[in-house]
Amino acid sequence: MAERFDEDALHAVGVRIDAEHPEGIIFDPHQPQLRVTDLSAVRGDGIFETMLAVEGHVRKFTAHLQRLQRSAQITEIPLPPDSSWRAAVDLGLDEFRTRGGLPDELAVRITASRGVDGEPASDDPAFSGTYWVLLTPVSSKVKDSRGRPISVTLLDRGYDSTAPQRAPWLLLGAKTLSYAVNMAALRWAAAHGHDDVVFTSSDDLVLEGPVSSLLLGHRTADGQVHLKTPSAEAGILPGTTQATIFRAAEQAGWQTSSGPVTVAELHAAEFLWLTGSVKLVSPIARIDDHEVRVDAELTNSLLDFLSQEG
Ligand code: PLP
Repeated sequence: MAERFDEDALHAVGVRIDAEHPEGIIFDPHQPQLRVTDLSAVRGDGIFETMLAVEGHVRKFTAHLQRLQRSAQITEIPLPPDSSWRAAVDLGLDEFRTRGGLPDELAVRITASRGVDGEPASDDPAFSGTYWVLLTPVSSKVKDSRGRPISVTLLDRGYDSTAPQRAPWLLLGAKTLSYAVNMAALRWAAAHGHDDVVFTSSDDLVLEGPVSSLLLGHRTADGQVHLKTPSAEAGILPGTTQATIFRAAEQAGWQTSSGPVTVAELHAAEFLWLTGSVKLVSPIARIDDHEVRVDAELTNSLLDFLSQEG
């Protein structure tokens, strides 16, 4: 592993965690770091989280660590303690500062791999896998896309909504590294003139996007706003962005709920958004051939809810 950093490679910083460096050690992400036998590379057998750091503050760090632990339980991948992840992220942020500047926004990706088959990296189970943090400045393209209306296509994810309970080996609800299917769905959408995807179950429930959660909204007769999201039991990832929006919305007096959402309910929704930690909020203006109303003021309210969080 290269410990030296290429001075020109200011655009990303890596931090590895292992038993000798439980608080992390900087590496150059532009140099090879992973053994080809690492199960993350061989089988996509690992879990991850992507967080947003604004001015050096990681948003919803605790919620992301909790979801990483949930993914670890589902996949039975051992994890270093939370204090290691926090220290490693701090080390990465400091590395940017030392080198002359912390970007205003960084995508902070934390990854835990099962490691190399039959060769635990340490006798201590908490460090037996391969663990690293990657901090990358958020591109202006991503920043500019926030709040912009998008077109989505509905795509069948191929499982019915009872699959998570019936077939736990599918790891539905864990944020695993196996995103090849999610990326293929996004390519399919692009090839058919859409910006993004909403997955459906084979029994006609609406789930989530390949990298985002779905929110439905409508104004009630008394001028209130009601937000709804599909329930996590259907085998989707509980979104930390969605949860933050709902918490702030409730404080603002809005109503929120989660439950099964049918395709018919989706088409009847007044407003729709996709939400995620780095892209934040995207209003849906079209689902296949069906136009959806977009309300810039409501979208801005959702964005405000997220910035209040700090
Ligand atoms: N659903 C899936 C499948 C995702 O990959 C993501 C984020 O990457 C989300 C939902 C949104 O989660 P969060 O708001 O915590 O970023």
